[in-house]
Amino acid sequence: MSVSSFNGQRRRAYQCLKCYHRMDKVYIEAKYRVYNHFLKEHMSLDQAPFYCRLCLFRCFKREELDKHFSSFRRHQLVLQEKEHTGQP
Ligand SMILES: [Zn+2]
Ligand SMILES: [Zn+2]
Repeated sequence: MSVSSFNGQRRRAYQCLKCYHRMDKVYIEAKYRVYNHFLKEHMSLDQAPFYCRLCLFRCFKREELDKHFSSFRRHQLVLQEKEHTGQP
């Protein structure tokens, strides 16, 4: 993953290296945000081992996807609804 870390003045910031050369859009943020940005912007769905069908969140581990689902209540509600109505 092309994300570098460096220590800022006050808090640790992370930068997306893929956006590094773009003068207009350098992405420096908290780690998880850069991570999410990287997966979303620079990785296609077929490259991601796991992804969320609801918001296209991408991740490398099954646990991360589970964590993602459990942290988004809306997702749980949608999934529950699907279970009740059944797949088309
Ligand atoms: Zn980027
Ligand atoms: Zn999601």
